[in-house]
Amino acid sequence: MAANNIDWSNLGFGYIQTEKRYVSNFKDGKWDDGVITEDADICLNECAGVLQYAQTVFEGLKAYTTEDGRVVTFRPDLNADRLMQSCERLQIPTVSKEKFIDAIEKVVKANIDYVPPYGSGATLYIRPYVFGTNPVIGVKPADEYQFRVFVTPVGPYFKGGAKPITIRVCDYDRAAPHGTGHIKAGLNYAMSLYQIVDAHNKGFDENMYLDAATRTFVEETGGANFLFVTKDGTVVSPKSNSILPSITRRSLMIVAEKYLGLKVEHRPVKFEEVKDFAECGLCGTAAVISPVGKINDHGEEICFPSGMEEMGPITKKLYETLTGIQMGRIEAPEGWIHEIK
Ligand SMILES: *Cc1c(COP(=O)(O)O)cnc(C)c1O
Repeated sequence: MAANNIDWSNLGFGYIQTEKRYVSNFKDGKWDDGVITEDADICLNECAGVLQYAQTVFEGLKAYTTEDGRVVTFRPDLNADRLMQSCERLQIPTVSKEKFIDAIEKVVKANIDYVPPYGSGATLYIRPYVFGTNPVIGVKPADEYQFRVFVTPVGPYFKGGAKPITIRVCDYDRAAPHGTGHIKAGLNYAMSLYQIVDAHNKGFDENMYLDAATRTFVEETGGANFLFVTKDGTVVSPKSNSILPSITRRSLMIVAEKYLGLKVEHRPVKFEEVKDFAECGLCGTAAVISPVGKINDHGEEICFPSGMEEMGPITKKLYETLTGIQMGRIEAPEGWIHEIK
């Protein structure tokens, strides 16, 4: 779709193909320099490693326009670090931080008309990913890979304000201890699809996963970390080796402590404790924070005092401060805002 035909404030959260994307190939033990191309299709051998054994990892971040008209991304160095960790875990050759940032800059510049204007609520979602391309039939890592980055403009996540959602405690597990829950791999999402479809069929918005070993600690949802607020205003986020380290959640914890002067705790959180919390939210790049109003545990409901009409007061302050920092209305900590020049 041509950028000048987009109605920014009525965009949904779906794939809209833009004109340009970044592609780099790994062959004979090294990455090439990478180019911008107009070809959105990938031609792969039927036996490609990614198709047979799901050897692929990804990232997700956004570019947007600040109040003073700069085009920026938020902490892309952390996405670069996380992609390296994901690559290492799946035996994929790593993409260096320099190469990652270069790719992000090139692809955003090539699609600069698709960066939504300030105030529209829309953003340009950036999807970097790496996958094994050569034929692999015996189980082993591929020898050749592609690193691609495409962008797609997405609408405001909450149209007409963020309404609290209802989630349920899920009977399936998301990630095993010592498994792959801490990396951003497509395989973690493939195995969550059954549960999310089932949750939606039963009228729930999301699944709350508990720790696979004991089913007594809170992990996360399929694609967002939990933040809780205690009745005395402490911000608590669950800690576990099988939770994906959300950049949004890590940033919100810093905002809570340094900007709002709140006490923060990153520690294992027992499911038993959840009923005593005052507020609950889900953190991720897409929505920043989605407020949770209700958790259904096999028919037993935990209803947060913040209710089903609006975000809890501390969740709201966190949301407004972080989005204010991102949009350039509030001064950002050193290194958080990466300008695309
Ligand atoms: C991407 C992702 C998140 C959110 O991470 P952000 O860096 O904040 O976007 C949380 N959980 C899972 C499982 C994810 O894949």
